[in-house]
Amino acid sequence: MSEPVVLMQDVTKTYEIGDIKVHALRGVSFAVAPGEYVAIMGPSGSGKSTLMNLIGCLDKPTGGTYRLDGIDVATQTDQQLAATRLAKLGFVFQGFNLLARTSAVRNVALPLFYAGDRDRDAKAKMALTKVGLGGRIYHRPNELSGGEQQRVAIARALINNPAVVLADEPTGNLDSATAEGIMTLFRQLNDEGHTIIMVTHDDDIANHAKRIIRLRDGLVVEDAAVVNRTLVST
Ligand code: ADP
Repeated sequence: MSEPVVLMQDVTKTYEIGDIKVHALRGVSFAVAPGEYVAIMGPSGSGKSTLMNLIGCLDKPTGGTYRLDGIDVATQTDQQLAATRLAKLGFVFQGFNLLARTSAVRNVALPLFYAGDRDRDAKAKMALTKVGLGGRIYHRPNELSGGEQQRVAIARALINNPAVVLADEPTGNLDSATAEGIMTLFRQLNDEGHTIIMVTHDDDIANHAKRIIRLRDGLVVEDAAVVNRTLVST
């Protein structure tokens, strides 16, 4: 088996608010191998956002170990973590998080701008073509539908060829037909070898993944392959 891209070993996260300690994660362990497609589910308050923040290197565990593509994030300075995030992760959010007054191609090129890449516009055009938006590269977000905006965000997430694409309720703002299109795209990306980890509260969306990890009260209560995977037509 290849080296995991995400390795969580007995990870805990405790928030302290004054004298009160909130144990958001209470010992979470799992590994995600390259090429996996994982949905993280669980009721509100179960620790999904906390876990995504840790996987995304936006926060560090209180205890236990998290390795991202072999890097122990606890040993990294904030500056190193920012560089790790840029190199290893692509983020897709529920609200798309695009710059409003900026063209699709510039939005997609943004991570490469921070990386100082001179070929960023050409690479961004290629990424937009890959997600089916080759004909809309100079449109601004307000000239695109919700589904198209999410495709721009997905192209931006892919531009650095990240080790992991992290998606937080990626279809939460979309109608079901548009959501289906985004799930088709995720499937294609996963078929091409991209590793995807997605938080969702929606069973139909989670069933597009190959594996579901369920959290409850800060613990993994189920971690299993999806038996009847939804196979959207491509
Ligand atoms: P979910 O995303 O599944 O709804 P969260 O990870 O947001 O769960 O929350 C898990 C627990 O941690 C909850 O009890 C929540 O109130 C608490 N929590 C989350 N973030 C913070 C924070 N920044 N400060 C204090 N408590 C928090």
